[in-house]
Amino acid sequence: MIKIDQYFDPASWQKFTQAAEGRETPFLVVDLSRIKSKYNEMVGLFPEAKIHYAMKASPAVEVINLLAELGSNFDCASIYELDRVLDCAVDANRISYGNTIKKAQHVKYAYEKGVRLYATDSEADLKNIATYAPGSNVFVRILVEGSDTAEWPLSRKFGCDPAMATNLLIQARDLGLVPYGVSFHVGSQQKSVAVWNDALMTVKNIFEQLLNEQGIKLQMINLGGGFPARYLSQVNPIKEYAEAVKQYLVDSYGVDDMPEIILEPGRSLAASSGVLVSEVVLISRKSHDDTTRWVYTDVGLFQGLIETLGEAIKYPVYTPKMETSTNAGRVVLAGPTCDSADIMYEETDYQLPEELEIGDKIFWLATGAYTNSYSSIEFNGFPPLEVVYVD
Ligand SMILES: *Cc1c(COP(=O)(O)O)cnc(C)c1O
Repeated sequence: MIKIDQYFDPASWQKFTQAAEGRETPFLVVDLSRIKSKYNEMVGLFPEAKIHYAMKASPAVEVINLLAELGSNFDCASIYELDRVLDCAVDANRISYGNTIKKAQHVKYAYEKGVRLYATDSEADLKNIATYAPGSNVFVRILVEGSDTAEWPLSRKFGCDPAMATNLLIQARDLGLVPYGVSFHVGSQQKSVAVWNDALMTVKNIFEQLLNEQGIKLQMINLGGGFPARYLSQVNPIKEYAEAVKQYLVDSYGVDDMPEIILEPGRSLAASSGVLVSEVVLISRKSHDDTTRWVYTDVGLFQGLIETLGEAIKYPVYTPKMETSTNAGRVVLAGPTCDSADIMYEETDYQLPEELEIGDKIFWLATGAYTNSYSSIEFNGFPPLEVVYVD
């Protein structure tokens, strides 16, 4: 069983418990000061990089305002996220449109709003950008390895192979766009440091080929997101990723010819800021001699815990009785809706105190990313997840 001091010092934990007092569960408490310190850490580790916060991790106005003030740029996935960030008075030149899947009319809209930096990975999308966002900077997303070591892989749906990427960048020039750079995403919650190096090697080849054969000098490498957050198991500190990546970049480009570097962190900035507070609705067993308890909480996949699909993301699950209990037992953790997919953990060995009772609070730690933005609106009539911000 976990102890809360493995995750929080007493003062930080108190912020969450204070915000939780007297409020009906479920709700998410987000401590903005933790996002701030993660952002500052990232800037400190990559002082020469531009950070484009991947808004989809936690697109709240409170988070956008904080990061905007700290000097962050933003990567949006849709015109709706774009509107949100523009409404926070962020200048369009600080925004990239990172989704490679977009309607022509949305490209046009983004262009009219001033966005001049677009991701692409296909000819059809590139042509839309040339038509509706003429003269813009484009970067091509390549497919990279990494899905085996990422807990939430993103790679297969996006990106194209390096030969196609090279062709798209040539075509971009021919269509009057600026062939600006190359991007990749090694998969979210990426455990391996080495996959960045592999991806960067492919990028380097594209840079060289375009320069040598076409006279195209690319200007930017977008390293995507993927930096891990601390969930149930320990992960390498971001510092190790930063050092490995920087070393590789210096070795292959030299300090004088270093391209512009963009990072798009989402999870690593937002995850640790959130604690999802829930309550036990029911505890039952499936037969008289069953040793496993089924613990149903008032949050599930549809109230923000969608990343437990396939038991991919393993949130630390905490209940105060863990501090004193010496008697833990195996549980299945499930949500409250009438959908049999609404089971968070059945295969993973989660243990909760035998003293656990209906009505006890269950805290889902490190739930600041990919939770509230995923919460359903009205499935089974449950309202969307309430979020409380503290700092
Ligand atoms: C989701 C996403 C990110 C953020 O990834 P994390 O693993 O949460 O850091 C960055 N870039 C793009 C293009 C994305 O789609």
